[in-house]
Amino acid sequence: MTSNPDWLAEGLNHIWLPYTQMKTVPAPLPVMRGRGARLTLADGRELIDGISSWWTTVHGYCHPHIEAAVKAQLETLPHVMLGGLAHEQAYRLSTRLAALLPGDLSRVFYSESGSVSVEIAMKMAVQYWLNKGERHTRFLSFTGGYHGDTFMTMSVCDPDEGMHSLFTGVVPDQIVVPLPRDEESIAAFEAAMDKHGAEIAAVVTEPLVQGAGGMVFHDAEVLRRIRKACDARGLLLIVDEIFTGFGRLGQMFACDVAGIVPDIMTISKALTGGTLPLAATVARTHVFEAFYTDQPGDALMHGPTYMGNALACAAANASLDLFETEPRLEQVAAIEESLAEGLAPARDIPGIVDVRVRGAIGVIQVKEMRSLDDLKARFVEAGVWVRPFRDIIYTTPPYVVGEDDLAALTRAMVDVTRKWASDVGLA
Ligand SMILES: *Cc1c(COP(=O)(O)O)cnc(C)c1O
Repeated sequence: MTSNPDWLAEGLNHIWLPYTQMKTVPAPLPVMRGRGARLTLADGRELIDGISSWWTTVHGYCHPHIEAAVKAQLETLPHVMLGGLAHEQAYRLSTRLAALLPGDLSRVFYSESGSVSVEIAMKMAVQYWLNKGERHTRFLSFTGGYHGDTFMTMSVCDPDEGMHSLFTGVVPDQIVVPLPRDEESIAAFEAAMDKHGAEIAAVVTEPLVQGAGGMVFHDAEVLRRIRKACDARGLLLIVDEIFTGFGRLGQMFACDVAGIVPDIMTISKALTGGTLPLAATVARTHVFEAFYTDQPGDALMHGPTYMGNALACAAANASLDLFETEPRLEQVAAIEESLAEGLAPARDIPGIVDVRVRGAIGVIQVKEMRSLDDLKARFVEAGVWVRPFRDIIYTTPPYVVGEDDLAALTRAMVDVTRKWASDVGLA
């Protein structure tokens, strides 16, 4: 690397990076521009983006339609408080989301991050019961799950996995069981639901894909089973579509694939097309009705300062326009085919235990991850941006990635993995 900007070296002494041991971290790569599915580094190199900036930039970087919408909003009203004042973008977006989301998910509560939207969903679920005069204060969630980094969301993440295990005993103790996917786990799940039904406010799950838990897929039948188990006991179901929402699995929402309607859904990540931070907690009519009374005390006492930010909502409206006017879901279907074909050759690499694809998600799972920083550097050298973690090398490209770039991306994933596996003696 030649031209490292001076803001990088200076700022590195002051910035605190995500999920990072600051003492040993290699300096991050300075990015000067993003366009479509490509990032341009300070030294002029271009990388094909295989991650979509943590699954957000589904239309690519700097999409002119989103840019224009945000610029126009910036010139009239970047932000105004949602308490007592209204602006068009947030109200219009709510109407559009209600029409787009499955079933009667039709009340949209905004926040600025995925974790906070899950916090709000959990608070909503507990208060739903309190408003009905019942105490249901715990949650049932699933091993391998991820729902955010704030305290309450940590409590419904996988309890043993590295990221949050330090906080066992600090965060509230929830009921965490394996996803009900075979005879034994189904029995364990049903038993836990029976045993704890009287104290459970809601079941919380990611639908069809556990993302941050390692891109682990499960069948639609599993999700339908969870829905049924909640229905049978009158318990709420919170489905966290923060990763899967907005086309990643080939339909707008994973719940559409499974044909279920959760009681509360959380969305974020691709909601603004990766332009500005925005999240929403969306409730069905019967959930909303528990708050809709003549008692002031029944109201949901929550209101993030920047909730429904006008710039973010303008970006989200523009992103929805693009889903209407451009063939995004067809693009995802084509990506699914290309990923399946492009990653298949990785199957015969010694030490590769699985290669799997669903929608615009492609995964090479290794027997054991080794020399992770070295592996990451090799991908950059090959001209692609992928961030292996845990035991997976994966891609979640922007839906607009060109055929050639996608082919180059999968080729680099296979070739780099093959060489690396051989060099580190993976077998
Ligand atoms: C990323 C993610 C979150 C957390 O969202 P943040 O915006 O990072 O707080 C929660 N749930 C799922 C499924 C996610 O993928």
